[in-house]
Amino acid sequence: MNTKSLEDTSTLAWIHFNRFVTERGEPIEFEEHRWAIDYLADNHPHKVSPKAAQAGMTVLEFMDDFHLVGKRGFEVAHTFHTTDILQKIVRPKVNPLINNNPKIREMMTVDSEGLKGFGKSFLHIIGANAESQAISFSADVLKIDEKDRSNPTVVEMLESRLKHSKVKWIREFSNPSALGFGVDAAWRESDMRHWFVRCRHCNHYWYIDFEQSDEKNHYVDRVRRIYACGKCGKELSNHDRIMGEWIAKYPSRDRIHGYWISQLMCAWISADEIVNDYEDKSTEYFHNFVLGKAYTPTDMVVDRAAILRACAPSNISKTHVAIGVDQDAGGQYYVAMTSQGVFAHGYVDSWDKIEHLKLMYNAVVVCDPNPYSAIPKQMANKYNDWYLCYFKNLDGLSAIKWKEEEQVVYADRTRSIDIVANEIVNGRLLFRERAHQLEDIIAHWTNIYRTTKEEPDGRVKSIWMKKENKQSDYPFSMLYARIGLMQLMAGGSEFIEPSNESERPVTNISVKDESTLNVDFRDILSETYAEMEE
Ligand SMILES: [Zn+2]
Repeated sequence: MNTKSLEDTSTLAWIHFNRFVTERGEPIEFEEHRWAIDYLADNHPHKVSPKAAQAGMTVLEFMDDFHLVGKRGFEVAHTFHTTDILQKIVRPKVNPLINNNPKIREMMTVDSEGLKGFGKSFLHIIGANAESQAISFSADVLKIDEKDRSNPTVVEMLESRLKHSKVKWIREFSNPSALGFGVDAAWRESDMRHWFVRCRHCNHYWYIDFEQSDEKNHYVDRVRRIYACGKCGKELSNHDRIMGEWIAKYPSRDRIHGYWISQLMCAWISADEIVNDYEDKSTEYFHNFVLGKAYTPTDMVVDRAAILRACAPSNISKTHVAIGVDQDAGGQYYVAMTSQGVFAHGYVDSWDKIEHLKLMYNAVVVCDPNPYSAIPKQMANKYNDWYLCYFKNLDGLSAIKWKEEEQVVYADRTRSIDIVANEIVNGRLLFRERAHQLEDIIAHWTNIYRTTKEEPDGRVKSIWMKKENKQSDYPFSMLYARIGLMQLMAGGSEFIEPSNESERPVTNISVKDESTLNVDFRDILSETYAEMEE
């Protein structure tokens, strides 16, 4: 094969022979990025990479885009989680990459911000965060960058753009988020390629992970601050780390090729830096952004087991009731609770039915006024204990802020869901219905998960995300009901954020006459179990 035809079929050869440079004008090299060679050369229809930050994947993927479009004539859609695709991606990254490499510049026939034309084919650079951006075009290759932070509905719509192509390649890469979600879910179905590294002292051949495990993997020695061999314990050199090889854990799973890209295999990142991050950063950040691994804190996993543990069926008194309502196009999801726990929930097809429940229980109502706000606002005008809840980032200690005169309550979305999740997991918020009645609540809770997101300014923020095309209305109805409960107890029911202490605070609920009731749901729980055993 001559140079010309090799350049036409291989992104790698094309980059190499043309000595292309990065958006900062630095040579694109494959010495330290040796692990990227096989990744780029792999033309499998479906590749997935859970990846660490700063692995240098973005530039390589863009070069690959230019090659796929310009040399192979493929139509490529490359999506990012940000809505502001021009300011965040195209202007600072893509345009300089093109301008720094005249040979790429010359190939281009159309240059219109998010649309780059090379002859008859186009590269579409798309923000996968707003549904309006999922415009109609068909693509041969779909690249989903930062899949775990993208709007799942948009991603799904974009996947349908491949339908008419004969090629239908998917590349998904992302800093992972929660276990079993997003890129981690696809990785688990893949052949799971690990970067194997040989110890030059004892020839031991394994991949590098952070912790030393009985699997004999190489690891980061936190005392000596070195990469250490999993067998002899001696130091792995940068050269050892570079000269690795991709080995699939499950070679027979050929449907998806998976590449786990951690900072531990990046020769330019020292063990010392890794240990610093381990010591300074949150556990979630360290897993998602340094190790390229999914992570979910155990006290934030509201799964079937957690809900069933908090299920303590009992016919509780229906006084001081709060009702939380979330809505969709078809109707209203409600959850009714008292300080003793959730006693009813359901889906109704009109606000009249919610009003009926409100009157029946003499309940405080907190509802989501979006997307259909006319009737909720009318109700708030009619009843002075009917509140509209809006999500807003709140500074300071409280995750909730009331605007009494307007019957509006602001809730910090992440922090307030954290609190409810934590109360459920720790058995402080109970379900008083029977276990078999909770299936829809269980399903909705398992459709949301907590993960981390890196802000443009580099700060890391926790967020709750929803699974693709799944419903999560009951968790929100519960949150609204729980907020309503605070109001009912004269604002005295503290909404306490989960702490790292092993002894968790008790939910304090003070009643209107200002005498304080310390409601410890754990006591109720044990009483209920005692009753059940009798
Ligand atoms: Zn060794």
